[in-house]
Amino acid sequence: MGMESIIRTRFAPSPTGRLHLGHALAAKVAHDLARQSPGGQFLLRHEDIDGPRVREEFYHGIEEDLSWLGLHWDGVPLRQTSRTAAYDAALLSLRERGLVYPCFCTRKEIETELARMASAPQGPMGPVYPGTCRHLAQDDVDARISEGRSHAWRLDAVKAASQTGPLSFTDLRCGTVAVDPFLLGDVVLARKDIGCAYHLAVVVDDAWQNITHVTRGEDLLPSTHVHRLLQVLLELPEPVYLHHELMLDDQGKRLAKRNDSLSIATMRESGMTAAEVLARIEL
Ligand code: GLU
Repeated sequence: MGMESIIRTRFAPSPTGRLHLGHALAAKVAHDLARQSPGGQFLLRHEDIDGPRVREEFYHGIEEDLSWLGLHWDGVPLRQTSRTAAYDAALLSLRERGLVYPCFCTRKEIETELARMASAPQGPMGPVYPGTCRHLAQDDVDARISEGRSHAWRLDAVKAASQTGPLSFTDLRCGTVAVDPFLLGDVVLARKDIGCAYHLAVVVDDAWQNITHVTRGEDLLPSTHVHRLLQVLLELPEPVYLHHELMLDDQGKRLAKRNDSLSIATMRESGMTAAEVLARIEL
């Protein structure tokens, strides 16, 4: 079997807490897809760019929980904090082509602007950025920078879409999905506080780790529209996607991440076996 047909998946948690049942499901989906295929590989990536919420003990906690569940990964886990130079390079390439713009807005300013608008632009996860900084003149940008104001970088979705033309992605559950480049609006590709952000980091790393199949919860399906755009703009390979169903609680609501009773560690301490925990995530 050639290298190109080997399946590589990844589980990409943020070390901002212990794993709960929902994470176990995401890890198992990625693990099983890789292990069902000859030579398949399952990788672990710590998405640890979220500054102050990340704690050293959680990297170890995640690895301990996965090992206890028998979801063993291949190779050394990747930490996104070791990859910031790659995110900077990708951002620079987009900047050089005028595909991103600096955004000085605070959260409060965005809320005020949205409230002022007669019809605020809506996305699947709530209102999208109203475009306040999209057409700032260079003089205005320079003036704000010299006042010491910091800024994020946002994707100019209109420019991006005009460069890529129509796109689609393949999802193993939904089939072919047409990309809506405006679904999430002009997303942040580099945050003010940390200099990078989820959408860009995930796309750059999935390509770097040669991930052939990106598996994750269906709550992240809207993000995939942005990710396809970025892959084309950055000339990165196109993975296949599998957006799986989410774990629901007894009331049919999404599991709350902060519910301690659903943490793998708590279940283990209460005497449950790994097999019993895994039985709870059978879809
Ligand atoms: N780090 C993301 C999360 O914990 C998952 C990223 C992804 O699978 O693309 O929700």
